[in-house]
Order: sequence, then C-alpha cells, then structure tokens
Amino acid sequence: RDQVVGATGVPVCGDPGWERANRNPGRPVEYRRDYYGAGTPSADVCTDAAPGRKRLRWYAERVHHFALSLSPEYRYEGGRFEDVAVHVLYSPGDESTWGNGVAVERTERALAWLDQLFGPFGWPQMTNVHRIEGGGTEFPMVVMDGSADQGLIVHEVGHNYTMGLLANNEWREGWLDEGFTSFQTSWFWEAMGRPSSYAANEAQTLMLDLDDWSEPPSLRAEEYRDFTSYNTAIYSRGELFFHQLRYTVGDAAMHRILRTFYQRWKYKHVDEAAFRAVAEEVSGQDLSALFAQWLHTTELYDYAVGKVETKRGTGENTWVTRVEVLRKAPGRIPVEVFVIAEADTVVARANGLGEREWVTVETRSSPREVLLDPRVRTHDWNMLNNRKRLGFSLPRSLAPPPGTDFYLHRYFSTRSARDRMTVGVHPTLWYNDAGGVTLGVRSRDDYLGRFEQNVALLSRSTGWGADDGVEHFDVFLRARNPVFLRAPNVSQTFEAFKVEGRFGLSARLERSRREHLTFGPTWSQGIALEWVHPDDFRYLDRGLYDDAGTVEAQLTSGVATSSGRWQLGLRTSLGGGLAYNSDGLAASGRPGLDPFYFRGQLEATARRDLGSQLALGVRVYAGLASGHDDAPKQRQIYFQGADPLEQLTNPFLRSRGALLVGNDFNYQQPGGAGVRGISSRVSTAAIVALNFELEQTVVTRPEAGLFNRIGIAAFTDLSHDIGGSAQPLLGERIRFLGDAGIGLRVEHRIGDTHFMTRFDLPLYVSRPELAQDQAPGDDEVRFRWVFSFEPAF
Ligand SMILES: [Zn+2]
Repeated sequence: RDQVVGATGVPVCGDPGWERANRNPGRPVEYRRDYYGAGTPSADVCTDAAPGRKRLRWYAERVHHFALSLSPEYRYEGGRFEDVAVHVLYSPGDESTWGNGVAVERTERALAWLDQLFGPFGWPQMTNVHRIEGGGTEFPMVVMDGSADQGLIVHEVGHNYTMGLLANNEWREGWLDEGFTSFQTSWFWEAMGRPSSYAANEAQTLMLDLDDWSEPPSLRAEEYRDFTSYNTAIYSRGELFFHQLRYTVGDAAMHRILRTFYQRWKYKHVDEAAFRAVAEEVSGQDLSALFAQWLHTTELYDYAVGKVETKRGTGENTWVTRVEVLRKAPGRIPVEVFVIAEADTVVARANGLGEREWVTVETRSSPREVLLDPRVRTHDWNMLNNRKRLGFSLPRSLAPPPGTDFYLHRYFSTRSARDRMTVGVHPTLWYNDAGGVTLGVRSRDDYLGRFEQNVALLSRSTGWGADDGVEHFDVFLRARNPVFLRAPNVSQTFEAFKVEGRFGLSARLERSRREHLTFGPTWSQGIALEWVHPDDFRYLDRGLYDDAGTVEAQLTSGVATSSGRWQLGLRTSLGGGLAYNSDGLAASGRPGLDPFYFRGQLEATARRDLGSQLALGVRVYAGLASGHDDAPKQRQIYFQGADPLEQLTNPFLRSRGALLVGNDFNYQQPGGAGVRGISSRVSTAAIVALNFELEQTVVTRPEAGLFNRIGIAAFTDLSHDIGGSAQPLLGERIRFLGDAGIGLRVEHRIGDTHFMTRFDLPLYVSRPELAQDQAPGDDEVRFRWVFSFEPAF
C-alpha cells in the first residue's frame, strides 16, 4: 500500500503514491489518467484490494517494451515540457543531487532538446528513476539513471526517440540505437557551448583503425570479437558515422534528415535502409559510399595535396589557384580545401571520390598556403601531406613538413598532435674519460604518438676534464615508424651512428599484438640486424670490447600474459653474427676468436602478489654466445647485466668513465644473467641463471610525482657458467656465481616518464674478487651497493 511506483504508460486507476511522496507540494501531480481517451481500459479493476495492499492499472499504446519500478522510500517530483508530464523518483539522501527540481529540470531540458531535434515526443509522460547501479538504461517512458548527470539524462531520454519511438533492432543494428543516441548527446553539448567530443572520439578510433582493431558497426551483437570491440563499434564508431553524415550533408540538412526520419518512422521499426532512404532523399546526395564505408568496413582515409597551380585571375586583384587533391587510401569523403592568401582565405570542397581531383579557388590576394581538412573532419590518418606552402620551400626529404610544431623538449614528455608533426629540441650534456665534457643538441619528432618517432643527436666532445682530450663531432640518427611504412601492429626502427669510438647501422622490425584489446596474451615477433664497428679505443673499455667489428642478425619472439594471480612473460632471441677486424674475417684481435658465432637468449619471468603489498618475482635466464671459440667480448653473455651493445645508445653508460660507470659508481643495467653484485665486465660463452625478488611496498602516494611508491626488497641471483673458457682474471672457469641481499625501490613520475630508482645491497657475493663494489681481500659477506634506474627484471 505504501509503494511509490513509476512505470511505462499512464496509471488508469489506483494510487501510484506520488501525492504522498511529493517533495514539491505546491505543484499538483499530473496523472494524465484519460490520455488515451476512449481506448482506455476500465478503471474498476483497482477496487477491492486486500487490506494493506493496493491495485494499480497502467496502460500504454504503441510501445514495444515496458518497465516498472517501485519503492516505499521513493521521493517524487513532477514537471512538464510542452504536453509531456515529467515524473522523477529518487531515494532519501538524493535531495541535493536529484531533488529541488534538479533532475526535473534536466529531464525537461532533454525533452526540449529532442523536441527541436526530431519533433514532439510521442508519448504522454517521461519518468526518470534514480537506479541503484551506475550507468543508465532506457524503456519507453521510463529511464533509470545512475546519476542526475545532464549528459546521462540526455542520452537515456534520447533513447526514447532512438530505440523507443524509432524502434530499431538493437541486437542487429546497435549503431542505430547507441551510436545515434551518443551522436545526439554530443550535439546537445555542442549546442550548449561545450567543446565537441568529436575530436577525442575520432582520434581514439583512428588509433584502433591503424592497428586493425576496429570492427564495422553493422555486425550483429554476437559477431564481435569481444565486448570492448562491440562497445567501440556500436557507440564510438556508430557515433562517428552520424558525425560524418552531418559533415557531409551540412548541419541544416542533417536537421531536416532527423525531423523527416522521425515524422515518417515514429512508432515503427526502423533499419539502415529506412534511414539511408530519408538521408538521401532529404540531402539530394548519393550517400552509398558513406554508409558502406562507415557502417560496413573500417577503411582508412588519407588525402594529400598534389600539384598546385596559381595564376592571376581575369578581374582586378584576383588570383586563381588550382589544387590537386590526391586520395591515397580507400576511404572516400568530401574534403575541405583551404587556400590561405595574404589577406583572405577561401574554402572549397572536393568530393573526395576520385584518386585525383582538381579544385579551383579564387582569392582576392596572393595565395600563400594550401591546407586540406584543417578542421580534421575526414578521419585522415596521415595529415603530414595535407599542407603545401606556395613559393620556395625545401624538398620534403630535407625539412619537416609545413605546419610542424617546434618546441623546447623538457626531457620527460614528448608532445604529440593529431594534425601535424611535432619536433622537440633540447640541449644535452654528459661526460666520459675520453672526450671529457660533451655538449650536444637532440631533436625528437612525433606524429600521433605512433609515427615518425625520429631522433637526431649531434654532439661534440670538448676534451675538458678528460684524460685523452678527444675532440670529436658525433652523430646519432634514428628513424622510427615512418608514415610510408605503416603496417598494423608493426614497428620499424633504423639507426645510423658514429658515436664515441664506434660507428654502425641497425634495423629492427617488430610485430606485437594482443589477442584482445583489453585482455589476453600479447604476442610479439621481431627481426633485428646490427652492425657495430669499434674504431677508437680511447673511448672503449677493453674489459668490454675486443678490437673487432660485428654484424649480427637476431630473430626474437615473446609472449606476455596473466594466469590467475600470475603475470607471466617469455622472451627468446636466436641468431648469430660474424666478427671481423682490419685483417678481415679470418683474423681477429686475439687468438681463439671465432669469426662466426651463434647467439641466443631465453628469459622467462613470473610475478604474483602475495597479499596486497607483497609481491614475488622469479626470472629464469639462459644465454649462449659462442662459435668454435669464444665470441668477441662485446657479444658474450654477461653475468651482471646488459651487454655492451645494449648500452650503446646510453651516453651515461657506453664509454669509459661515463657518469654511471665511473670508478666510484656501481651501476647495473638489467640484462644477461642479472647477478647484480658482480662486475659489469665479467662475461662468458654460456650461462643459466635464476633470480628471485620479494618486494614489500611500504609507502604508496599515487598522486605524487617523485617518491610515489617506496618498497623494500630481498633478492638473490644464482648463475652457473655452462660453456666458457677460463676467465682471464681468475685463470679458471667461473662455474657458480651468486649473490643475495636487500634493496630499496622508489618509483617516480616526471611528466610522462615513469622510472624507478633502485638501490640494492648485494651483501653476499659468492666470488668477492669479481664483485662490482670490491677491494682486495674482501669476504663473501660485506657491505656493497649497486644502483639502477630500472627494475631488476
Ligand atoms: Zn545508450
């Protein structure tokens, strides 16, 4: 008897409890019991309820679904938009977020927006209920909202048009339901003066398109790869389809399309064909390419400026510019062509269908620049070819594309943009014992956070403060993921360098793909080629380099996955190389150096939480680098960490006396057998190793930049030499080598860069004479330390 009820339709008889629950008694409750007139069923069924109970009869016409929600606790507030009664039901405690007219007003605003967008609401009332869960859901005349957020209300109430009155089949054509609704919600915010969500949606969708994650919105629900893919296609890409339609036909025609569609199809079942027929009729355009591409495929779009011709026009002070618009991808959509002249800008539109198309524009001053799609409306994935400066300009291969954003790079964050290249430049400074203080300038390019991630570094050693005082110009160049090599899930890296006593070239190709976008194993495969030629041993540590050049090829593969509470990883590399020196392949810097060597590594890691703050990590490693005789020193397997070529791009590590490898500094770059307490120069032909870490987090401050997590750890590293010859230092083979100790890990974030400072105390080292931090006569157990900017594994 005390229930307060909201439902689809009108209460023909009985008391829904609104009067008693009404928080705004000044405003009479509107039941609209007679809305359906003569068709209304009899009211006499509501009499004769048992004591303590009540009977209600709800009635609705032309609905395909219904809802009912009731609670004795509900508070009621009423309102009205035009001819539509508004009922809001919320719970105790919601007074400030839902009450005092807040939810009523927002529901009325949603109805007003939809009324002008589509036409008058086709039902007598709209009930907005505060549901227990977050999010929202929709039924004819009833929406259940997790909050009184205006955007949520516009979305759910909007479904009363797109789903309710325009009754699509959500299973078969979800885009016509959620995509349509998301689109009108985003248009609502735009009309309210907020920035459109189009840009973020478009950019996010593009990233998925580029790596072949996208699926077309036209699939049936169960045909999607997974729920994430379904949501992305139906909501985000579905919404984009309507934005692209609006862009193609213009705002006024879009408005007419929506009103005509509603007028013609309300209270009926709708589908793509019905909507397309209205869109084509109203706009007078053939929209087959747009519907086919946005709903049934996931094509890429790429338009480019081709030739540009300018001449004086026939009138006084007129210039005629002819622009060739090139279509370089299958996607077809109209393209805006901006011709920017000295004193005026003229915009034309290419229809975007042909592979090449000429557009002619007349300006009233001398043309300076041509821009395609500067508003980023064509979903063009490569906007680096969308601009052309007229008059003299450097060839594309020599200069960054027009429109490039140059900025001072702050070391920890790289800027990236949707519609242009960014180039960050900063000075560099480091030191080593050969070249002394070394000054340089480095640039980092980026496009979309995915392409053209190029690096150029020019440096000069000054000789200041150094033993050898070498004065040299050095250069390091890296090209990564150029746009012309775009391939889904593939990354390419090419390097050429002449740095600190070495020169060489390298190329790497890697393909990496997760089975599902948000879960499942990530598989990767790669191929790498690297040539490194040492030519100036004033920079090089003889403990790390033989006087031999190496050319090496590697095939890599890996997988990372989780299973229960375990996070598992496996990486392997297999390959080989050849070593040579100035006398050719046969001879080498030392006897017993084999020109051909095999090199392979395997690393398996497993981690799991043992409670909320305690974590266990295990690593198994095996590495082999050998031919008939030993591989050159720089290609052997290292006990402590990374091998010399893995340190090649790090100026703080790679050369003699560099800042992190100075005499009093004990640094470990992870890699190899990972026996962190050992000298970084100890290597052999083959090692198997096991590393254990137990880490207890003691402080977490997620909001902090520096020191956002502090942990203490206990570790042990165990390794066994399974191949090499006698060590020069010992005159014998090493066999077992291990360490154990405790450490401190602190995580930091500066800008976009996350890093760790790791301070380990390998208090036990099985061969103290091989320890990194050592003095003659040391015992196995003594105080030692090692530092790193990276986790141990
Ligand atoms: Zn929805």
